[in-house]
Amino acid sequence: MTTVDTEFHQTRALYEGAGSFVTHLECSMAGDVYQKALPHGLSKAGKPLLVRYDLEQIARSVTKKEIEDRPGGFWKYREFLPLERGENLVSLGEVMTPLLPLRHSVPDDVEVIVKDEGRLPTGSFKARGLALAVAMAKELGQTHLAMPTNGNAGAALAAYASVGGLRTTIFCPDDTPEINVREIELQGANVYKVNGLINDCGKIVGDGKAILGWSDISTLKEPYRIEGKKTMGLELAEQFGWQLPDVIFYPTGGGTGLIGMWKAFEELEAIGWIGSKRPRMVAVQSTGCAPIVKAWQDGASHAPLWENAYTVASGIRVPAAVGDFLILRAVRESHGFAIAVTDEHIITARNEAAHKDGVLLCPEGAATFAAWQKALETGQVQKDERVLLFNCATGLKYPMPESNHTIDCHKAIDYTALK
Ligand SMILES: *Cc1c(COP(=O)(O)O)cnc(C)c1O
Repeated sequence: MTTVDTEFHQTRALYEGAGSFVTHLECSMAGDVYQKALPHGLSKAGKPLLVRYDLEQIARSVTKKEIEDRPGGFWKYREFLPLERGENLVSLGEVMTPLLPLRHSVPDDVEVIVKDEGRLPTGSFKARGLALAVAMAKELGQTHLAMPTNGNAGAALAAYASVGGLRTTIFCPDDTPEINVREIELQGANVYKVNGLINDCGKIVGDGKAILGWSDISTLKEPYRIEGKKTMGLELAEQFGWQLPDVIFYPTGGGTGLIGMWKAFEELEAIGWIGSKRPRMVAVQSTGCAPIVKAWQDGASHAPLWENAYTVASGIRVPAAVGDFLILRAVRESHGFAIAVTDEHIITARNEAAHKDGVLLCPEGAATFAAWQKALETGQVQKDERVLLFNCATGLKYPMPESNHTIDCHKAIDYTALK
């Protein structure tokens, strides 16, 4: 019998006595170098750190075929990940997330594929980043982790930290959906609702660090969540036969995934596993919180804080992103663009994909579908471009339209009136 446990042991065996191919870490802006195997936050310049690998050694150590033959989800990309010791691996049964072509909610002559990240543990792609962050925290001897969250990141941190035996304290805006707050607490974290936005929660984490000694796991403020999110790019390359789609629509909050995928493509090209053709990267935001879109339109390299941020897509309600310049750089280098869609359009797109294709997108995932529809209309994408949308979380965690059709089974039923 192959259980999650068998697969876990197979995956962990990949790491036994193997070590990692990490050479050092480096500031994403200034390029100065930081030593591996030490706990790190932001660089001296206050910017995210990127993990660097001995790519030549990776190319000599593993083949595409060996990677393809491994079971399980993102942990199988061992050579591209920073973990040194298998005993620190934390797993909850990760899977390679499926590619679902939209068939009925798009015109006949287009190819639009959804990567359904809702199948991951805790129901969102946050599992990728937080599994890596928790495993690395274990490896670095950290015991108490803290984080601000709009919901899904907190759930993933809580679950992976619990299975890994670490303590967590999590802060979320008090209008975070109740389902997220409850799942965070139920999965073992200490969670507090704060009467402010995500950046207010982030400040509490930062200030509390000096007093309580916890490690700050905020988006891009530690180096390993990006490495986890990078596996989306590795997985896509493998699933597309070591080629890539023409355009990737990514729902952009902190932008970890977009930055991570861009890093994955860079590493894969450096070892010759993919060619130089890259997807155009599209940063999708809501019109109620679109700092990256505004900066892209203004030709700016940083995005000022967005005031009064509001959107139904709470995962992309991020008024200020530490990695703004990295998101903008990837979008520009890829000849992509940034685009904002209204909340109304997000909900219509969500409903359309669910009704016609049976694909229940989360609002952030639906934002990518809406953005593709809009971009097709404005000519920013063409019909013959192969498009990939990210459904970043299960649609089941979000409010759905009411359903109120009733039948009185104690009376005669008029079957002819049923639909
Ligand atoms: C976190 C999150 C996002 C944004 O992801 P980033 O990589 O941080 O930009 C989008 N959608 C959902 C559902 C999320 O939880």
